[in-house]
Amino acid sequence: MAGFYLCEMQILDGKAAAQSIKDALKLDVAQLASNGKEVPHLVAILVGNNGASETYVAAKVKACEEVGFKSTLIRFESTISAFRLLETIRELNTDPDVDGILVQLPLPAHISSEEIINAIDPSKDVDGFHPVTVGRLVLGQPTFIPATPYGIQLMLAHYKIETSGRHAVVIGRSNIVGRPMSILLSAAGPQGNATVTICHSQTKNLKEICLSADIIIAALGRPGFVTADMVKEGAVVIDVGITRVDDPGRKRGYRISGDVNFDDVATKAGFLTPVPGGVGPMTIAALLKNTFHACALKHYD
Ligand code: NAD
Repeated sequence: MAGFYLCEMQILDGKAAAQSIKDALKLDVAQLASNGKEVPHLVAILVGNNGASETYVAAKVKACEEVGFKSTLIRFESTISAFRLLETIRELNTDPDVDGILVQLPLPAHISSEEIINAIDPSKDVDGFHPVTVGRLVLGQPTFIPATPYGIQLMLAHYKIETSGRHAVVIGRSNIVGRPMSILLSAAGPQGNATVTICHSQTKNLKEICLSADIIIAALGRPGFVTADMVKEGAVVIDVGITRVDDPGRKRGYRISGDVNFDDVATKAGFLTPVPGGVGPMTIAALLKNTFHACALKHYD
């Protein structure tokens, strides 16, 4: 019954919400420049030529240009040593012209992402993955919020979706999405105060748990996993998943699929994010906000 929606379902348009954030940032950057201040500078490091990583990094660099940030893309062959990568990060850490550093994951198997992330100066950790950043997040202290959960928070705020006192179910417990998302939703404050259940690959009765959710955040990387029979009438469903699924019918040979079966869930959900055009653009907008913040902190030092 594709396209036939029983309830009034509202699509949460990530492109539009991200655009309004970028428009505001553009004005803030122009203000900095007119005050003779340096504009934010994001440095992205890309190792190897993983297709998806190339796409993500290109989108981040483009977004920087759009809002007037400086951006630099440093590329390395996949054979680069961890030592050389660490050396680059140390140089960027001490470069006063650089506000934010991001290392696009995944890294080649011979390099420990943990070691690389731990080397980034927390004051430039705009991806929000450093242990100091995560520790501050857990403690409710001001910090960089990991871009995807931050983007979801911004989306909830943009569409004025109430989270306080509601039951939020997060599917996925990764360090970059599920776990920080569960911490933010349960924290005191705006887009928080929810009662949170975090589910993962070993969770039993996932369907029953999801059926009691007012808000579902699906971040597991399994195309079309969340179906209408798992969703309560009127629930808010946020689809984080991005998986390339083979599609010989398309010129590029694949399509992007989310973790939610959109047409099916649209018959039950009250609010639903599309893929693409939902969480993806919000993640980039959140990264820009973090980078602006890193730069602003420097100006107020
Ligand atoms: P991950 O592989 O690190 O973690 C997946 C999580 O899902 C794990 O915690 C695992 O326990 C859980 N899981 C797996 N199978 C499950 C099942 N059957 N039932 C319940 N839980 C299950 O993935 P990740 O890095 O968190 O990313 C998740 C998805 O989000 C991927 O598709 C990724 O591409 C996408 N993603 C999107 C954005 C964005 O900007 N939109 C950003 C980051 C990640």
